[in-house]
Amino acid sequence: MVTITLHCQHCQSDALVRNGRAPNGKQKYLCRACHRQSREHPIPHAYTDERREEILRAYEERSSLRGLERTFGVSRPSVIAWIKKTVRAKVALEQQPPNESQVRRGTLAVCGESENV
Ligand SMILES: [Zn+2]
Repeated sequence: MVTITLHCQHCQSDALVRNGRAPNGKQKYLCRACHRQSREHPIPHAYTDERREEILRAYEERSSLRGLERTFGVSRPSVIAWIKKTVRAKVALEQQPPNESQVRRGTLAVCGESENV
């Protein structure tokens, strides 16, 4: 008999118990240590990056969320989550530039304000 010890993906504990099945038939596990769920052989993203960018490009062409839902079969909350993510990434990029001197930081802030107008 072969015993495979599973470890929690969140806390690496081996105190996992079976906890039903996911809609796609995968076994779900519940961790008794951290009380979080995991499933066997997880796939990180349901949509590939290309697919996601394609859908986001369509959104930038002012397609409505419901329109995207009909065209691509993607759920609106997913698209909204991606949009928020990209917006946050953009903001992080704009705020990133070097923290050299206070004077420089001042000019960067001014530039940021003028871009928003
Ligand atoms: Zn855990």
